Amino acid sequence: MRDLSNDNVVHVKGKNCEYLQFRRLLEYNGVLKHAYGLKPDNYRTKGKNLTEEDFNKAVNSYKNLCESIGVDYKNLVKPTQNHTNTIKCVSTLEGYVLGKDNKYMDTDGLVTNQAEIVLGTSNADCILLMFFDPVKMVIANVHSGWRGTFQKIAINAVDKMVKEYGCNPKDIICCICPSIRKCHFEVEKDVRDMCEEIFRYTNQIDNIIEYAGNKEGTEKWYIDTVMINKIMLKDAGLLEKNIVDSGICSICNSDLIHSYRVEGKGYGLCTAVVSMKANVIL
Ligand SMILES: [Zn+2]
Repeated sequence: MRDLSNDNVVHVKGKNCEYLQFRRLLEYNGVLKHAYGLKPDNYRTKGKNLTEEDFNKAVNSYKNLCESIGVDYKNLVKPTQNHTNTIKCVSTLEGYVLGKDNKYMDTDGLVTNQAEIVLGTSNADCILLMFFDPVKMVIANVHSGWRGTFQKIAINAVDKMVKEYGCNPKDIICCICPSIRKCHFEVEKDVRDMCEEIFRYTNQIDNIIEYAGNKEGTEKWYIDTVMINKIMLKDAGLLEKNIVDSGICSICNSDLIHSYRVEGKGYGLCTAVVSMKANVIL
């Protein structure tokens, strides 16, 4: 069996599911629980052709993943995700929030300082960012596809942590889950131009965008959306050592990770879940 473990992540092969964990976050395993759920599970809970059976299967996958890391799936809160840059706070334990109709519509990131709440996001090529501030005990979970990246949702997440919970950006750890990477994120001129327009200010456009050539009559470029997120996180005040990248491409590893570009219509989803445990006072 293939293993995706590297310097930053551990590939866990559990009884009921496989998942990745960040070595950096495992240092806080007493108070912080997290996982990035892999194939063969499919964590899709909404979509046009999703049957009730598919939904129930996804819920069961969440149940297995949450149980594996010692959190209660009934406390899972997952926004609908719609390529926005909207971050919302989850302030009380409200139970299970999943599927197409929920109060976190048109929301792509959640933040909380409450223990036991499980924040979830899902992806198939998009970037998922897991945030943890071990000083203020605040977590965030953010979906940053290219549209969210272009709308700078990562900065909104840090802003929310600072403004709502008094976090110092220097304390915040951000882990970048598997996603499509520059090796495979090929775009046409419209997206390339949009990217240059928005991120010219970084003075790193030549590293972010690379010409991929003329393919069957269409000019293509590669874009490094992971690098853009890293630049934004640093600009937001995070320390370089606190930005931890899984370094894993969803397309290069599509046997273990769901990919929209590989699977096409009816594609499955991986998930990131993160939750804090109540402090046990001895
Ligand atoms: Zn790749």
